[in-house]
Amino acid sequence: MQKFTYCVPTEIIFGKDTERECGKMVKRHGGKKVLIVYGGGSVRHSGLLERVEHSLEEEGISYVECGGVTPNPRLSFAEMGVKKGIEEGVDFILAVGGGSTIDAAKAIAHGTANPGVSLWDIWTKKESLTKTLKVGAVLTISAAGSETSDSAVLTNEATGKKLGLGTELNRPVFAIMNPELTYTLPKYQIGCGIADIMMHTLERYFIPDQKNRMTDEIAEGLLRTVIDSGRMAMKRSDDYDAMSELMWCGSLSHNNLTGLGREKDFSVHKLGHALSARFDCAHGATLASVWGAWAWYVWERDIARFAHYAKQVWGIERDEISAAKEGIERTIAYFEEIGMPTSISGLGIGVLEDETLKELALDATMNDTVRLSLIRPLSAEDVLEIFRKANY
Ligand code: NAP
Ligand code: FE
Repeated sequence: MQKFTYCVPTEIIFGKDTERECGKMVKRHGGKKVLIVYGGGSVRHSGLLERVEHSLEEEGISYVECGGVTPNPRLSFAEMGVKKGIEEGVDFILAVGGGSTIDAAKAIAHGTANPGVSLWDIWTKKESLTKTLKVGAVLTISAAGSETSDSAVLTNEATGKKLGLGTELNRPVFAIMNPELTYTLPKYQIGCGIADIMMHTLERYFIPDQKNRMTDEIAEGLLRTVIDSGRMAMKRSDDYDAMSELMWCGSLSHNNLTGLGREKDFSVHKLGHALSARFDCAHGATLASVWGAWAWYVWERDIARFAHYAKQVWGIERDEISAAKEGIERTIAYFEEIGMPTSISGLGIGVLEDETLKELALDATMNDTVRLSLIRPLSAEDVLEIFRKANY
């Protein structure tokens, strides 16, 4: 086991009606004027926004709204939010929504606490981040895990780049997680969330030279739980138990618990980000669309690991080579079962020109300056091969 530090300071308030605790939580964290960040309107239609605002009013906390976050949130939206946050003199940012909304809220918190500093300079590490405003989250979709993660992802529409920022300052101070709030999700978004939750653990799992049994067991248990609960959730999105499991797994999958004591590489995420930045596809769907091609490209470098995954997660006990292969096949079949694309055209963007794939490979590898995947270090040329395999 490698050295690690594990500190997840986000207080989790889980269960039915917990959004009513919102005002108390903001008050406890010293918030006096809140910027409420939300997306394209689902929280208004469901009545959640009204309940959150009522809860703030009950505690005498004033607020201003900042709605309109899009999936794959844009830098320009976050900059607008920063302007509003500074003008209004807010001291707390409350995200009500999914990963896109929470990530936008984190960006707005960083910008509002650092007036005059370019957000993109923070994202590209030209400026170091030393302070931020407190962020709280009311979660409405089990997927990104942003409600407890140290990460936030923005798309710079001017440069066409989608980039994550990792910093402890990204951890929300609290996360309100009521599984009932996810009942209104379209099936496609539930599927995207399942794929993303699985990927956050898988991207920490296929790492070479693992001697880390406890972390493996946590990761495998989480994957089995997501797979089973995902099936139930796809049948009935108002299944409280299934939606609860997914919600809890979503947080645990991306707060580092499932990868403690080992590295992570997030290579499939880099491929997915390149696709989302260019075609604005849903994040989880991009990951499912290329995972199979990635796995078939790297698996022979660590057959034993893929066989172990097949045994522990899918219950496949055979000779190593056929078990490893069947584990990959079962994963791809599962993505299909939950309505996720398993090829690029499944994203609804057709089959791409080879020139486009080359550009995507350069985007994913930062112009061939970084190598993806520790299990088999991938250059832009390798990534191009993976995109070609997925391009049908
Ligand atoms: P999302 O983009 O926040 O939301 C997807 C869609 O679902 C939106 O159209 C949203 O509508 C809708 N929606 C959300 N909750 C709903 C509900 N309860 N009922 C009905 N519709 C609902 O989804 P996400 O997958 O959570 O976030 C994706 C983003 O997170 C991507 O940009 C991805 O790169 C990023 N990400 C971040 C991290 C991290 O650690 N920070 C990790 C992985 C991924 P409204 O807009 O109308 O609400
Ligand atoms: Fe993700």
